[in-house]
Amino acid sequence: MSFAAEIKREIARDMPEKECCAMAELGALTQCLGSISLQGAGQMQVIYRSFSTTVGKRLLTLLRYYGQLDAASSVVKDPRFGGRFVTTITLTPADSRRLLRRLDVLRRDETGEDVFQGVPKRVVRRICCRRAFLRGMFLGCGTLSAPDKGYHAEFLVGDNARARFVQRVLEMCDIPSAITQRKGEAAVYIKDSGMIARLLATLGASRAMLEVEEMRTRGAVKQQVNRALNCDHANLEKQVASSRRQVDMITRISHLAGLTSLPRDLEALARLRLLHPEATLEQLGAMLSPPISKSGVQHRMRRLSQVSANLRTHTPSVSKEDAP
Ligand SMILES: [Zn+2]
Repeated sequence: MSFAAEIKREIARDMPEKECCAMAELGALTQCLGSISLQGAGQMQVIYRSFSTTVGKRLLTLLRYYGQLDAASSVVKDPRFGGRFVTTITLTPADSRRLLRRLDVLRRDETGEDVFQGVPKRVVRRICCRRAFLRGMFLGCGTLSAPDKGYHAEFLVGDNARARFVQRVLEMCDIPSAITQRKGEAAVYIKDSGMIARLLATLGASRAMLEVEEMRTRGAVKQQVNRALNCDHANLEKQVASSRRQVDMITRISHLAGLTSLPRDLEALARLRLLHPEATLEQLGAMLSPPISKSGVQHRMRRLSQVSANLRTHTPSVSKEDAP
């Protein structure tokens, strides 16, 4: 079973606590999976189709138990969809109209006529209902890739107005998301693993959330260890390379002018460096008498480097040899 299917099964296990939440979830599921077939004489029929039996069963419970609606269902292997099982749920025309009015999809105007609303917003007024709405959206059109395959949660909602609305509801739950187009259909997605964990908590998928959190923690620890290892390694390499340059520079001065030609403080440091090529600048500073700080050592190294550079430009030939 895919990670997304596991989450759906987990979410579908808990029944909505309140009727308002059941309606919010039903509203979302209707947006994702429902279609309205207009029949003659102002009649209409709501039809749901889902490839998931988990979602199909959930829909039936919400419609029959919470909505008190007359819903008929059938599960058939559909050759049009590669022989996959498709659950189809239909409502009677009278119950279709009742449901659409309750979901705020239809609203009566002044003349008493039913008119279609855009995206029904009333269902997400309460905080409890926002969570229920997102649950319905995830059951209806949500996907989520398993933690070991990289984090990606997505709601393939279809049209842009709906996508913006889902994004807004996610935002109300402090979950930032982005919108993209998939083959002409709008999709709302979340890539940040922390936000995906928050989404799962919001949906009530605690087990899946813990799984994601565990992977995140493992990933973060691994990253920290790697960073520490790389950092130490890089520092060490830098230190070795810089010491090698100093030894070369001092050997050059020694060959070209002799270390005794140097001012006393520089000569002392130059000799210490040749004796202790592995020592850090702090360690060298501590070995001097009187001891000096790291920045004092850096300053003397710069002066030595200046001496070496002058020797190179002004003394083209070796005049004198001086072992350190
Ligand atoms: Zn509610």
